[in-house]
Amino acid sequence: MVRVGVVAVQGDFLEHVQALRELGGVEVVAVKSPRDLSGVDALVIPGGESTTIGSLMRVKGLDSAIIDLAESGLPIMGTCAGAILLAKRVADRVVGETGQPLLSLMDIAVVRNAFGRQRESFTTDIYVDGVGKVRAVFIRAPAIVDAWSEARVIAYVDHYSAGKMGAAAVERNLLAVTFHPELSGDTKMYEYLLSMTRR
Ligand code: GLN
Repeated sequence: MVRVGVVAVQGDFLEHVQALRELGGVEVVAVKSPRDLSGVDALVIPGGESTTIGSLMRVKGLDSAIIDLAESGLPIMGTCAGAILLAKRVADRVVGETGQPLLSLMDIAVVRNAFGRQRESFTTDIYVDGVGKVRAVFIRAPAIVDAWSEARVIAYVDHYSAGKMGAAAVERNLLAVTFHPELSGDTKMYEYLLSMTRR
């Protein structure tokens, strides 16, 4: 059985735990401290408030433990706030450079709140390269605005005011997703993450 950890310090980790359990064939572990990471085959970093998740991961020593595992090839999917934490460059659409604690694992640049605030949240179908059509829920979502070196944008969303924005990126074992697979009932992004454990 594949063991998947879900970082459980803040945000909607319970929805990820539930969605993964519904997939079946997966043992799900809520990761609150570095020892919860032992034996995980893949990891999910959920949406929520990236500043808070980043600070709490640092306080608990989860940041350095996750960085070590990422560098040794552990498949990791960061969704929404989780995607922000994976990025090397982060700015806010309104306030600019955030200086927040990050994992800084992926060669991508992300803009927080790229579509505006809460009332700009929306659901749409997008096409993800290598995955297919995916139902995507965007909530105060970031956008992937640049990818370099080995990182590659694999999905875009077309927004009526923000325009065409990067919605997912991959770099070896790392996957940044700016939407919420745990809220759509669409399991394809989890299946994609699990396929990375078999590579
Ligand atoms: N706007 C949040 C942030 O910048 C992310 C929103 C989310 O995870 N739903 O951290």
